[in-house]
Amino acid sequence: MKFCEYCGKAFDDEYDTCPNCGAKLRPLQDGEDEENALTITEMMALGLL
Ligand SMILES: [Zn+2]
Repeated sequence: MKFCEYCGKAFDDEYDTCPNCGAKLRPLQDGEDEENALTITEMMALGLL
């Protein structure tokens, strides 16, 4: 699965960009799923960006 950090949604590996917003998708890491992966908004809130 790949993940859109903007929408907080996961999509099939066949997608390179988010069908929703057009942002580049990143692969989900081990142990991550769309429920616990960080979105851009959450990373900004945590001061990671
Ligand atoms: Zn998106």
